[in-house]
Amino acid sequence: DQGLEKSRSGFADRLNRFLANFRTVDEEFFENLEDTLISSDVGFDLALRISNELREEVRLKNAKKPSDIRQVIIEKMVDLYEADGVDEDISMHWAPEGQPTVFLFVGVNGVGKTTTIGKMAERYRKEGKKVLLAAADTFRAGATQQLQEWGSRTQVPVVAGPEKADPASVVYEAVEKAKNENYDLLMVDTAGRLQNNVNLMQELAKMKRVIQRVLPEAPQEVLLVLDATTGQNALQQAKLFKDSTDVTGIVLTKMDGTAKGGIIFAIRSAMHLPVKWIGLGEKASDLRVFKPEEFVYGLFK
Ligand code: GDP
Repeated sequence: DQGLEKSRSGFADRLNRFLANFRTVDEEFFENLEDTLISSDVGFDLALRISNELREEVRLKNAKKPSDIRQVIIEKMVDLYEADGVDEDISMHWAPEGQPTVFLFVGVNGVGKTTTIGKMAERYRKEGKKVLLAAADTFRAGATQQLQEWGSRTQVPVVAGPEKADPASVVYEAVEKAKNENYDLLMVDTAGRLQNNVNLMQELAKMKRVIQRVLPEAPQEVLLVLDATTGQNALQQAKLFKDSTDVTGIVLTKMDGTAKGGIIFAIRSAMHLPVKWIGLGEKASDLRVFKPEEFVYGLFK
């Protein structure tokens, strides 16, 4: 798994290099540890928490050499990651048998929404599900065509409207079709216009109302797509979208292109939102279900 290997090793390399460069566990050591964690996008608050709890452990265990505390750092990070998500549910939610499930994808332009939908279309179609896509990003030129390309590549139909059509009308047509033609899954691509928070909120709310007019229990998932290479910016976007709509989970894309996998910790710790999927490239097969324990332990292999 080369993509994941890259972001794992980028993060772990930093930490290992850092530990190799220190001889004694003193104040300078802890300050540098904080810097290392922050530059891996773990986030300021979490970096301080890890470092403070580590100080306590080091005192209790009387650890003097950096190599002795490597294991303690790993355990601390796993503890903190798991403690922050005690009651979270990272599985995907589905409608009862016989009813269409709806996944709504939100996020700013360029983060990888359309690509992620294409990847999931492929995955679920191969699992034997009847999948439909809706091109409700009628705002960005080319977005509809891009989704249609994914549709033909993965042999999944796409409902689209004319350029600048009301996204809600495209969604309505798609939900009706999903219901009348017994689709298992409808995935909706939306426009992310960050420059206007109020508009965004209203548009997402309207889309949900339209969906619920046909399918009262839908959408089962509102997935916020974030680009891991944008680091702390991704965290700002998560805050904005979380305030605007009921996000049920995160898709973190471009994990193949970053040594800053620490953003996963920051999202969990600051937002209490589960990362459900990670993107590891541009191909249909470059999508993985995110498994927290595997990821955290994998970082330090
Ligand atoms: P959207 O505007 O949110 O729909 O974003 P797109 O799906 O158009 O993706 C923007 C760019 O990011 C495209 O060039 C994609 O090929 C690329 N991309 C998406 N996901 C990934 C990923 O996981 N890894 C890499 N390396 N590139 C990705």
